[in-house]
Amino acid sequence: MNIADSQTVTAILRRAGYATTDNPGEADVILLNTCAIREHAEARVLGRLSDLARLKSAHPERKLGLLGCMAQHNRAALMRKAPWLDLVAGPDSYRRLPELLGNASFDPAVDVRLDRTETYADVSPEYDNGVRAYVTAMRGCDKFCAFCVVPYVRGRERSVPACDILREVHQLAARGVKEIVLLGQTVNAYRYEQIGFGKLLCMVAAVDGIERIRFTSPHPSDMTPDVIEAMAREPKVQPYLHLPVQSGSDRVLSAMGRGYTTEQYLHTVEYLRSAIPNIAFSTDIIVGFHSEDEHDFAATLGLMRTVGYDSAFMFKYSLREHTRAFKLGDTVSEVEKSRRLAEVIALQETISLERNRALVGHEFPVLVEGPARRGQGMLAGKTPQFKTALFPAVPCIKPGDTVRVRVDSATAHSLTCALV
Ligand code: SAM
Ligand code: SF4
Repeated sequence: MNIADSQTVTAILRRAGYATTDNPGEADVILLNTCAIREHAEARVLGRLSDLARLKSAHPERKLGLLGCMAQHNRAALMRKAPWLDLVAGPDSYRRLPELLGNASFDPAVDVRLDRTETYADVSPEYDNGVRAYVTAMRGCDKFCAFCVVPYVRGRERSVPACDILREVHQLAARGVKEIVLLGQTVNAYRYEQIGFGKLLCMVAAVDGIERIRFTSPHPSDMTPDVIEAMAREPKVQPYLHLPVQSGSDRVLSAMGRGYTTEQYLHTVEYLRSAIPNIAFSTDIIVGFHSEDEHDFAATLGLMRTVGYDSAFMFKYSLREHTRAFKLGDTVSEVEKSRRLAEVIALQETISLERNRALVGHEFPVLVEGPARRGQGMLAGKTPQFKTALFPAVPCIKPGDTVRVRVDSATAHSLTCALV
């Protein structure tokens, strides 16, 4: 989502006459786009800001700005810790950036007003040249999970008009993009006038040239039959779903205010598996939330085994100011959180490896993305289930092509394949 937001910011600044550079040493303006979801992310940004302060002291007229959720979350502390910042702008203030940059030469310009209607629908982001593009379908969140800062820093839920999404997708298809990822904090809560998320998937699937459609992150409570049916019916919608569960304990899920029980969640997984038999799942898991005990933690491990996730993002609970759970404090020590995190990671590695090894000998269509990060002479791409496939580079195969591969061997994180 931050990549998508940065592309929107780039487009807004380009309209105002700015150009981008890959070299911070020659920039007149340096903007850092940030995340506030966990304290760890914030700590890294502060480290990065002090590096950039050196670039600014070499050229004091150079403007340094901080964008995004962290700007929204704790601007006062930020201005104290990084007094050399010229500009602080929240996620709904990007349209005013040219103006704010104009003002930045005297007082630090701060704009963190949240706007219930801002969707940047008319701004075509500055997409990169990849085969996949991220298209924002909705912004903000109304769910207010007890641990989460998103509704406070990104504001309330609002959907981008379907016609603007489709215009964007048509333009991307014309540029050769093959895969669209629809984005939103609770993307399947999408609603614009009479159009819900299932309908939106079908509308995007009707665009010629687009071969694959994915979306992230859906909320389990909004995984309604119309969305599942659209996924099953539209061959372009890929058989992969990131379905964040957070915990396998009903008591913890209720304390988190997630709005579903494990039974309801598992029912959704079953429904999806019966509608889309080859579907792969990934998830988000938080360990060490307020009052999580050994029993709750064991339930999380149990649920991970029951679902058999193909992959997972796993986090230690991070207490966030402004959230409902903030005043409850931390009850699980840092050492214990680390132990639980190591255990879920180890379990997930085992499950991922098992699931990937079961694919050896199977064939998949892979959308080619480009050279593999590791492995000389190899290309990389994704299977429909969003697994990374590595296969030998052949001169006639280029990014954007779809090739058929057979899996030769597997690790927990990738599949090594032969072309068939
Ligand atoms: N909207 C998505 C959902 O509810 O499923 C998730 C969006 S959130 C930006 C991404 C993930 O960050 C969450 O699923 C959760 O696992 C994690 N997260 C959010 N707040 C957290 C916190 N305070 N501590 C640790 N992890 C957190
Ligand atoms: Fe945060 Fe997701 Fe819950 Fe919204 S639904 S509050 S983004 S975890």
